[in-house]
Amino acid sequence: MKNIRKAIKKSARERLRFQPEEEARLPWLPVLLEAYSVIDAGVRHAAEDFEKRQNRRLACKKGCGHCCRTHADIPFYPLELTGIYWFCMEKMGPEAREELKETLRGRHGIAGASVQDGACVFLQVGSCSVHPVRPAACRQFNVFGRPCGPGEDPFFTRRGDVLTPIREYTDRAFFIMMPFYGIQDEAQREKALKEGAFVLHAQAMNMKKHNWAELLKLMEQRDGIK
Ligand code: SF4
Ligand code: SF4
Repeated sequence: MKNIRKAIKKSARERLRFQPEEEARLPWLPVLLEAYSVIDAGVRHAAEDFEKRQNRRLACKKGCGHCCRTHADIPFYPLELTGIYWFCMEKMGPEAREELKETLRGRHGIAGASVQDGACVFLQVGSCSVHPVRPAACRQFNVFGRPCGPGEDPFFTRRGDVLTPIREYTDRAFFIMMPFYGIQDEAQREKALKEGAFVLHAQAMNMKKHNWAELLKLMEQRDGIK
């Protein structure tokens, strides 16, 4: 069994970084990236353990996006929403931006726009267009053995193939994010975790049901469309 504390520290040091001036201008950004790096380390750890125990390989790979269509509930939190807005506004390439705007117009019933299926609005040709800042819930959903079939939610069809995240990593990621929600003090953050981080869970939203109209408006304003 890996030393979880060491793995968490290492992952925080090795997190994804954007330009230093961006991270200095946006104090929430390093917090989000550090938390995601801990989540990703937890997924790697759990996947290695599963593969060793069960001798089965992770099925998830780029371009395999049935889960982004099938899942009805994909929870995410205000800090993650901030990251997604920022990424769409400042980091997304021009083609992906145009496709996203088209999708959002369709989702919000704007005449002439293509009507979308039930997929997450950020799914583009089987891949996530906000991949570096995709929510923790997306990062933690992983399947072993065979890839999910169209319409299959393996949580119900073969729960044994679905990765179970390691609690310590998830808790640490919440611990890192709590100052964004006004809980600065370390003792209070520990207390919130012991109580099940209810303060945060009460703020959970759903990627699939979220109203992205404001994001569309901001993107269109930025691109000069009235
Ligand atoms: S969860 Fe299923 S659909 Fe999603 S990437 Fe993994 S195998 Fe593919
Ligand atoms: S945010 Fe990305 S990974 Fe998550 S459901 Fe949407 S497309 Fe899939």
